[in-house]
Amino acid sequence: MSTHTPESLQTSGAARPDFLHAGHTPAKHVKIINLTAILLPFAGFIAAMVHGAVWGFNPIAVGIFLAFYILTVLGITVGFHRLFTHRAFETNRAVQTVFAILGSMAVQGPLLKWVALHRCHHQHSDTESDVHSPHNQGDTLSGTVKGAWYAHMGWFFDPDPQDLYRYVKDLRRDPMLCKLSDQFTLWAVMGVVLPALIGWALIGGWSGFLLGFIWGGLMRLFLVHHVTWSINSICHLWGSRTYETDDKSRNNWLFGILALGEGWHNNHHAFPVSARHGLKWWQFDFSYIVIHLLEKMGLAWKVRLPAQH
Ligand SMILES: [Zn+2]
Ligand SMILES: [Zn+2]
Repeated sequence: MSTHTPESLQTSGAARPDFLHAGHTPAKHVKIINLTAILLPFAGFIAAMVHGAVWGFNPIAVGIFLAFYILTVLGITVGFHRLFTHRAFETNRAVQTVFAILGSMAVQGPLLKWVALHRCHHQHSDTESDVHSPHNQGDTLSGTVKGAWYAHMGWFFDPDPQDLYRYVKDLRRDPMLCKLSDQFTLWAVMGVVLPALIGWALIGGWSGFLLGFIWGGLMRLFLVHHVTWSINSICHLWGSRTYETDDKSRNNWLFGILALGEGWHNNHHAFPVSARHGLKWWQFDFSYIVIHLLEKMGLAWKVRLPAQH
């Protein structure tokens, strides 16, 4: 099977691919897209809060928000992270497709790029080559604040590391995953249109459409973004360290809950290919519960767990 080159990497066509900017300042349009993807969900969050405070919170809109929050966070945690980055379990093509689409609906970049960046993070955790370490700005208070900001979202505006896609040679040999990755924009748009349509059907009319769009689309994105980005920032700064890993990863219970298990980040750096991050009975790990249920249903196999911990 030949190595597939994702559309975003191809050199043919009018648009200059972002990948060619590796090692240089990202193109202006990339910065604008990044900024829009950050500011629009924030505007949606404010709109949802103001609307709720003035007209009351619509329980169906809240339900749509919760459903899309859980589904798209699982797309990142079970799909992009544990399945595609770390190969912590195996599954069939249908389940792979569902998680690739759900992860794309979290709007954190195309699948292949997400996986490449995260594998790069594991290889260089908290060194100067780490793509998003909070520890490269000095140990002073202002250095910590700057580092936290950089690890949270400042790094989006940096150029990609040189030859980033060497980290995903395995995924580039898989035409189905490359295609799903190339279709990122389609799934991202579907992630805000689908809750709007559900709002239109369940709440009714254009006001229902708007409520679904704001709660299940924009506000959901705002919270999904900041909760998952906190794994890069907060979970490398604050929390406990059960294992003496070479990096500065932490276990943080709050993000263990909010990020559906990803907050047990020190455990994860200690056992990167484990499908389970919450290793103690009290370390709630909803993503592992989902993987375990998939295994019980015969939809996941070769689920990898630490031999001892
Ligand atoms: Zn990490
Ligand atoms: Zn990881």
